[in-house]
Amino acid sequence: MSDSTLFQKIHQGAIPAKFLARRERCFAIEDIDAKAPFHVLVIPVKPIPSLADLAEDDGVIVADCLALASDLAREHGLAKGWRLVANVGADGGQTVAHLHFHVLGGRHLGWPPG
Ligand code: 5GP
Repeated sequence: MSDSTLFQKIHQGAIPAKFLARRERCFAIEDIDAKAPFHVLVIPVKPIPSLADLAEDDGVIVADCLALASDLAREHGLAKGWRLVANVGADGGQTVAHLHFHVLGGRHLGWPPG
């Protein structure tokens, strides 16, 4: 258990979080420090460290994560648009070494990001 990532602990219930979905290969929780009115993390159950660490057969996991992100955006009324972000590594701003996709929406999102 001590080797578990933060998101594994959340998935297992050892750390509380607000779940929006649980699927076979991925789940979604509200981000604890929301950067937009809608800010959800879509996370694979498998603790892949980042998009830089995908194995050849992880494609189905990523596809399921993206499908869940799209479903959540639709279900939560983000018809005007939304953004999917995966931070990778230190320069990418990644702080949790377990792959996750930020789904952001509910306001206009500027570009480029900081
Ligand atoms: P990263 O910076 O790695 O792209 O994103 C990590 C995200 O996880 C951040 O947006 C941060 O707010 C969120 N986060 C960190 N700790 C927790 C936690 O304990 N619970 C939840 N729900 N989100 C967290």
